[in-house]
Amino acid sequence: MQPDGEVPVVQAAREARAFNFCSGPAMLPEPVLQQIQSEFLNYRGLGASVMELSHRSDTLVGLFEEAEHRLRHLLSISSDYAVLFLQGGATLQFSAVPLNLMKVSGQADYLLTGAWSEKAANEAKRFGEVSIVASDAEAGYRNVPALETWRCNPNADYLHVTPNETIHGVEFTFLPDTTVPVVADMSSTILSRPLDVSRFGLIYAGAQKNVGPVGLTLVIVRRDLLKAPELSLPSLLRYDLQAQQASMVNTPPTFSVYAANLVFQWIEAQGGVEAMGRQNQGKAQKLYAFLDNNDFYHNPVAVNARSWMNIPFVLAEERLNQTFLREAEAARLLNLKGHRSVGGMRASLYNAMPEAGVDALIDFLQDFSQRRA
Ligand code: PMP
Repeated sequence: MQPDGEVPVVQAAREARAFNFCSGPAMLPEPVLQQIQSEFLNYRGLGASVMELSHRSDTLVGLFEEAEHRLRHLLSISSDYAVLFLQGGATLQFSAVPLNLMKVSGQADYLLTGAWSEKAANEAKRFGEVSIVASDAEAGYRNVPALETWRCNPNADYLHVTPNETIHGVEFTFLPDTTVPVVADMSSTILSRPLDVSRFGLIYAGAQKNVGPVGLTLVIVRRDLLKAPELSLPSLLRYDLQAQQASMVNTPPTFSVYAANLVFQWIEAQGGVEAMGRQNQGKAQKLYAFLDNNDFYHNPVAVNARSWMNIPFVLAEERLNQTFLREAEAARLLNLKGHRSVGGMRASLYNAMPEAGVDALIDFLQDFSQRRA
């Protein structure tokens, strides 16, 4: 044992941790990982890992209630909304949303701001009539169409938006004034800044960026949208049934919910989503300021549409991409490769990325550009 009580192997593992800029699964807060490690074999003296406990046990039911309570508190979610802990990722919600909500007119509006909103719209087309209210596709998804240009259908069953596009690095917070329920894919922005849930009919998010490990999908849905859909809908996809049965229509992702509950506690300890927002804005501004002032790097996104979470950039010489990635990895800066559809680089700066990670990245970028320019 070391003087501080830490076993050498744990200390070594901690010292070896790198800054991981992956778009997801992403870095988790270190105190959360340490707590998981410390109670992994024997959860609260029960003689079993939390992974080995029945989802019907008092412990797990209590954990689900605690996680829901914390999330409600963090985002001020009123009792008008159900909170669901589901599986299948955000991708399954691309189908679940139209299957549950395209019920009256059979029509839905989609705003296209990047690759993920495109995927969501394409999936919805399989289930009903999809109309594109506005799109920045032709310009390469570098901006968000101005509200005045959105052609919204007042009879749509819902309007779907993706407030943060993980691949293109585009983010926005404005919404039209509408009575049509707004559905948002918040996979890569939830809990990164304050959010007024009451503006939305439904919010969904895969967990593996700001919430916890992969395997969990959050759905926050206004209760008046929970009316039972057609009986042909698979039970697991029915929001009304999942809400009635506390997300336990089948065996839920217990470990992921347990870990998410720890992440929620960590966010509380940071000062909640307001503090996260301040930190995230600071980290992003620092990196954008560096990129904008260095001729070797370029971020293509319009300044007022730039994401705080995912920052794509290209090098002045594409032929240096492989060298850049190899040297970054050697400097313990991981997963900076951009998505294959857009190329270049991307730094994802979710909640758990410390400012020291951004500083280390900037130092590396500076050094690389000086040596190569
Ligand atoms: N939507 C967005 C905005 C995403 O970033 C992702 C994953 N990166 C998805 C949907 C798909 O999520 P999943 O892999 O959990 O289905």
